[in-house]
Amino acid sequence: MPVVKDFFIALSNNKFMNESAKRMGPALGAKKVVAGVDIDSTIDTVEKLNERGISCTLDNLGEFVTSRHEALEAQQNIVEIMRRCYNANIQAHVSIKLTQLGINIDKDFTYQNTREILLKAQEFDNSFVNIDAEKFEDLVGITEILDKLKNEFNNVGTVIQAYLHDAMNIMDKYQDLRLRLVKGAYKEGPHIAYQTKEEIDRNYIKLIEHRLLTANAFTSIATHDHNIINHVKQFVKNHNIDKNSFEFQMLYGFRTDYAYELADEGYNFTMYVPFGEDWFGYFMRRLAERPQNINLMLLDIFSA
Ligand code: FAD
Repeated sequence: MPVVKDFFIALSNNKFMNESAKRMGPALGAKKVVAGVDIDSTIDTVEKLNERGISCTLDNLGEFVTSRHEALEAQQNIVEIMRRCYNANIQAHVSIKLTQLGINIDKDFTYQNTREILLKAQEFDNSFVNIDAEKFEDLVGITEILDKLKNEFNNVGTVIQAYLHDAMNIMDKYQDLRLRLVKGAYKEGPHIAYQTKEEIDRNYIKLIEHRLLTANAFTSIATHDHNIINHVKQFVKNHNIDKNSFEFQMLYGFRTDYAYELADEGYNFTMYVPFGEDWFGYFMRRLAERPQNINLMLLDIFSA
């Protein structure tokens, strides 16, 4: 349903809607996919998931960062959540977005901002920091910064989007880094990205198989797609791949029972847990991926 997808992606990019939603607080189903607006409720969520054998990657939500002040504030919030996780001795690391740390303001400033997070993460037990993949127009800048940071730090990794025609080359370039493999969440043109689910799924499987057979570092397979997950389970069995060389990841609030099932089967599992006031863009991208997620909204409205 490309029209529906375009509609929600357009909403996710609408600054006015994002600002209004921030003032309103999480609503209309977002509460089910965002752990909370503050650190305390997020730590509670992580503790509960840890009890189920699930680790977490925390995303301090933030969209439309246009000033150095906002970018520095985001950096401080990220350091604070890392500190709180370390002090609480819980299984969690952070996922960060370089747009939130200022990439559309100044690249060198963003590099310094990100570097600060990585230095602090080293103090917190060398906690892992994942740099999320974003819109293609931001990827060039993100890659430049990552290329510098990966020479300085061993606790940084990133994400490969299978919809990109060039995904295999990008993945190979980062073969020594811990990587998360995803299908890709943004709207990109046909000259950059595969457009159909069949093409994207085919490329995703190709990347996963290649990575699992050749990787020098840990791999996160981030999907809610049972067909892909079943394929991976069979593939690792057939090729005798160590279960500790990879994990599955899902987004908080989606297919939770399935996540518990995989963790109970002995697979490493990490939940991506977004938190903070800036929930709107994130939630609209989830609706774009799967319009059935509107059910979450309806459930909220009728249970209010
Ligand atoms: P889809 O193609 O959306 O779904 C495939 C099938 O799975 C569906 O047809 C359905 O049968 C089943 N299914 C899916 N969801 C559900 C559900 N909720 N309930 C029941 N059945 C379901 N994208 C980026 O671009 N950059 C990132 O940094 C990034 N990080 C991510 C981190 C994590 C942990 C995850 C899980 C995703 C991330 N994404 C990221 C988003 C990703 O790129 C996809 O857009 C998103 O995961 C949707 O694709 P999918 O693989 O889950 O399967």
